[in-house]
Amino acid sequence: MIVAERKSIPELVEILRVHNRILVLGCGTCVTVCLAGGEREVSIISSALRIAGKLNGLTFEIDELTIERQCDNVFIEQAAEAIQKSDAVLSLGCGAGVQAIAERYANKPVYAGLNTKFLGILEERGVWTEKCAACGACVLHEYGGICPVTRCAKHILNGPCGGSREDRCEVRPDRPCAWQLIYHRLKNIGQLDRLKQIELPKKWSSSLNGGPRVIIREDHRI
Ligand code: SF4
Ligand code: SF4
Repeated sequence: MIVAERKSIPELVEILRVHNRILVLGCGTCVTVCLAGGEREVSIISSALRIAGKLNGLTFEIDELTIERQCDNVFIEQAAEAIQKSDAVLSLGCGAGVQAIAERYANKPVYAGLNTKFLGILEERGVWTEKCAACGACVLHEYGGICPVTRCAKHILNGPCGGSREDRCEVRPDRPCAWQLIYHRLKNIGQLDRLKQIELPKKWSSSLNGGPRVIIREDHRI
């Protein structure tokens, strides 16, 4: 899922200070799960903005709404009335959600209330870790399902770098060495031979193609 963090209230006050009626719009999918932009956070941020607005001599009038997904026009439609009524939208969706709202409402200021961080998983209560950089050409099958692009601090495809100490990464000693994880994983599944192959430099052309990446599934087009 997409993992994001809330912007600070002082930063949001600065972003919103020229507006009066503001819709704080949550998203019920990834950012709800990572406790950044769901219904609960909409309520918390709205309350904090009301208080911060008063303390800063601003007259914020805040409306609250959460829709199922901000990156899907079908659900954006459900926010149409609330968006129309507002002077500006503070989206608590990921970066894609914010842009989806902005594209749909060309004359409405739409601001990001979150900092979108990465694609990751919930490791334990309150802890999310990055697992994928959406590189566009997945090589997980070569590495036992452990991604060296995101999980090795040096992004080494033919590792290890030789710097790890006691299974820790030399760059980030608070993290395990990804290449030790890859080694043990390949050993456990009987695929250590894969380590004898030299991986060619990654084809970044599929992720950095000079513009936004687009996937078209003809079988899903009407
Ligand atoms: S190889 Fe690329 S697509 Fe696959 S998990 Fe790593 S970053 Fe994501
Ligand atoms: S110690 Fe391991 S995870 Fe860290 S940079 Fe070297 S190979 Fe990558």
